[in-house]
Amino acid sequence: MAAAEDILQSLTWEPNQPPPGLPRQERLRRIRHSASHVMAQAVRELFPTVKLAIGPPIENGFYYDMELPRTLTQEDLPEIEKRMRKIVARDPQFFHANLARPRAMDLFREWGQTYKLELLAGIPDAEVSLYKQDRFLDLCAGPHVAQGGVCGHFKLLSLAGAYWRGDERNPMLQRIYGTAWETAEELDEYLHFLEDSKARDHRKLGTQLDLFSFHPWSAGCAFWHPRGMAVREELRRLWRETHREAGYVEIMNPVIYRKDLFETSGHWGHFRENMFLIQEAGEPEPTMALKPMNCPDTMLYYKTRQHSYKELPLRISEGQLLHRNEPMGSLHGLMRARVFSQDDAHIFLHEDQIQDEIARVLDLLKLIYSFFGLRYTITLSTKPENAMGEPELWEKAENGLRRALESLGLEFAVDAGGGAYYGPKIDVMVHDSMGRQWQCGTVQLDFNLPRRFELEFIDRDNQARTPVAIHRALFGSVERFLGILIEHFAGALPTWLAPVQVMVLPIAEGQDEYARAVAKRFVDAGLRAEVAVAESKISYRIRDAELHKIPYMLVVGKREVETGAVSVRTYQEKDRGSMPLEAVIEEIARKNRDRTLDVTVKDYSALFRTEAVPAADTAY
Ligand SMILES: [Zn+2]
Ligand SMILES: [Zn+2]
Repeated sequence: MAAAEDILQSLTWEPNQPPPGLPRQERLRRIRHSASHVMAQAVRELFPTVKLAIGPPIENGFYYDMELPRTLTQEDLPEIEKRMRKIVARDPQFFHANLARPRAMDLFREWGQTYKLELLAGIPDAEVSLYKQDRFLDLCAGPHVAQGGVCGHFKLLSLAGAYWRGDERNPMLQRIYGTAWETAEELDEYLHFLEDSKARDHRKLGTQLDLFSFHPWSAGCAFWHPRGMAVREELRRLWRETHREAGYVEIMNPVIYRKDLFETSGHWGHFRENMFLIQEAGEPEPTMALKPMNCPDTMLYYKTRQHSYKELPLRISEGQLLHRNEPMGSLHGLMRARVFSQDDAHIFLHEDQIQDEIARVLDLLKLIYSFFGLRYTITLSTKPENAMGEPELWEKAENGLRRALESLGLEFAVDAGGGAYYGPKIDVMVHDSMGRQWQCGTVQLDFNLPRRFELEFIDRDNQARTPVAIHRALFGSVERFLGILIEHFAGALPTWLAPVQVMVLPIAEGQDEYARAVAKRFVDAGLRAEVAVAESKISYRIRDAELHKIPYMLVVGKREVETGAVSVRTYQEKDRGSMPLEAVIEEIARKNRDRTLDVTVKDYSALFRTEAVPAADTAY
């Protein structure tokens, strides 16, 4: 067995030189990975007997798992950071070398690095890759930065326990999490983002704004409070106005069905674990279920009468409550719940109408998202390997989707082969101000369900034909969409959508009556106004209204009673001074009617931007 010193002598170290022109996300990945090595080096200075496991870059940061002689606490992190800063200040060169695997095993065995030995045992190659900076050497596939000096904008964030290889039969290791960025400004912005993320959590804001709440006995479903209902109702009004205009009709179907429905649709076979099943009295096993989606029962509705080609496209919406038996651990407030509703619609059409109808749906989507100022990206998913239906129909459908997107000047990515077996689809990802993407809208063609349910229409030539179905939702789950909006706007919803648009605040008890009269004027104008009666100090009540992020606060005192004016404070602009009551009513009514986007949100998305990979550098 060769001694460690001899092995080290035999190595040929190459200075690490990343290729030029790397996109930002790749530069960040290297900085974070290198920072994890620097952190391990700093920890080893403090604890020479540390046994290192793995230290990869992750989204927005890095970690390293290690076995230490004692348990670290949050108080240890500044000392580790201090040592990291010293290392980074020396701007150490990162080097790379290859080493025969048996010799690498000798090396790490002599150092007592048992986790590295286990990792080595799992590498099939004859040679393994090593990186080092200063005298810190690690078994590592890279990639890394050239000089450690670029890793200076970091912060250690937290500690956690982590089982070796994620297996709880293995020893529990200590994990240190950190973040690293290219500039001090980005690091600052990210730390601010972390704080803000907590404050913007829709579950926290749901309580703070009195919109909804959760109780452990409800097993992951929300209680909707009156103010939450007001917001839902406003979304619903937007939905109703735009969809009526676009030629949709609405129906209401049952929520419970016999299993025959789901056997016909195929859900009984494929989706039963996610459904709430119901056992009828006297039956040995469940024969009914709560519906998890609106598709199968809308097919039944279609069959309630005969259809002619003249009625197509037939746009039918159904927004009943849906129930899915999601695992308890996967539930997350409104974002993932066991009860939700969709702004769902099914469109039945002739295959020649696909392009026109898809264009109409996308037009509607564009209009609706514009009221929230949401940016979005579109993906077209095409024919997969296991596709059903005639190739000509697929071609017609895919061309229709493509031309519809092009005719509206919408940019889109193509996910070749990513469609469902029963039809191609368009997915819409909403980008929020926290730099996240959410799949909300979906437009999906379906050649399958209409056949399974034997749907027909009488065509121009008097022949019975099967219609194509489109499943489409724009918000997706209405509850989840609201959760996204709340976090996107940090709870400060635009005036048109705010649960309480106006809070009237009398300074003293003598003005309570006038305040009520003022509020009534707004209510009469179809707006949402309340009075915070003078039972506590005015400054306290203003703070409370601000905590509830109410867009307009109207303060009325003696002078206002005499002049018939109101003193206006807004959540966004603070003090606007005295205004005639009439002018304020007009302003808010106009915003309400036009659905004006009158809020500015702190937007973190630039922090998480990615850059296209330059063509010349795709292979490194
Ligand atoms: Zn590494
Ligand atoms: Zn559907």
